[in-house]
Amino acid sequence: MSEEYVIITCRHCQTQNRLLKDKAIKNIKTTICGKCRENIFIGDDEPYYEISSGAYEHPLDRSALNALKKVPGTGTVLKMIIKETVERYHRILFMQNYIKVTPMHMPFIHNMATHATRILDIEEVPQVFIYQNPYPNAFTAGVDKPYIGISTSLIDLLSEEELLGVIAHELGHIQCGHVLYKTAARIIYQVMEVVGNLIGVGRLAFFAIVQALYYWDRCSELSADRAEVIVTKSFTTSIYTTMKLASGSQKIMKMLDMDEFLKQGEEARKMKEENFFNSLFVTMQSQSTTHPFPVWRAGHLKEWVYDGNYLDILQGKYLKRSEEGDPDKDFREGDFKKSEDEPGLIDSFKKLLGLD
Ligand SMILES: [Zn+2]
Ligand SMILES: [Zn+2]
Repeated sequence: MSEEYVIITCRHCQTQNRLLKDKAIKNIKTTICGKCRENIFIGDDEPYYEISSGAYEHPLDRSALNALKKVPGTGTVLKMIIKETVERYHRILFMQNYIKVTPMHMPFIHNMATHATRILDIEEVPQVFIYQNPYPNAFTAGVDKPYIGISTSLIDLLSEEELLGVIAHELGHIQCGHVLYKTAARIIYQVMEVVGNLIGVGRLAFFAIVQALYYWDRCSELSADRAEVIVTKSFTTSIYTTMKLASGSQKIMKMLDMDEFLKQGEEARKMKEENFFNSLFVTMQSQSTTHPFPVWRAGHLKEWVYDGNYLDILQGKYLKRSEEGDPDKDFREGDFKKSEDEPGLIDSFKKLLGLD
């Protein structure tokens, strides 16, 4: 356990509290001020008023998304095409084939979605659908009116708090504006399978675009994971969710150990750094995945929770929507360089988007 301390000024009486960082992070909901005895962090039922996704977005996700938005037509034409084709098709399919959650129908899930929406100060509660599937998964779609799909096996696998985290994660995608581009990415991945047999320069260019999209896709997951812990205020819950998704087993659930899992992430990082081939294999193994591998995901979240602005946000110190600057101004070249992963892909992304 880390012996690092943090000084946190009480939101109520301005007293400076010296707290063990690890203990505070693991007990957000019960950490109180030594003087006035009030909760030091934002209460469980208290919304983050006016919170901007910029308060918690992963830097690479933000930069890549800003770059994508600069491509002419992506904001309007792409939205219109997807809304009238894929989205229309799926809405009709879901309404016929999935179970629609309402205040009367599976109210506990409806209440979770309502709660998380309010906490993240998002205007409208998205419609939630439950679908029967042995693969534990959740997704968000809908460029105009977003909706969330949750598989039955995910509901069976997770505790209520973990499920709330998953819903908050999906809301994070909505708040960060990922949904349009994620939907477009899914379509492109499918097209790639069809045109995968192309030869020559065309194939190479297409491959580079697809890899860049996959890379952004994975980075966007890191932002959504942050939204998850902002709502649940429980880093432990998120790591258990990640472990459960990695294992998928009810039987071993009680035997899972968070510290051992995080240690495995450290081992994986060391293996990657050991030599060039390990690093190359890590890149190859992850390049066509839409989600980061579980140990990396847990490691990234831990890094942000312990060394990023997580504790600031939980004290109410975060970027508000009214304080958002011009996204072009926010675009920082350095953000690309912050990530040590897959520099080749980042470079190709920059080239493709004309940022070089
Ligand atoms: Zn106080
Ligand atoms: Zn996600």
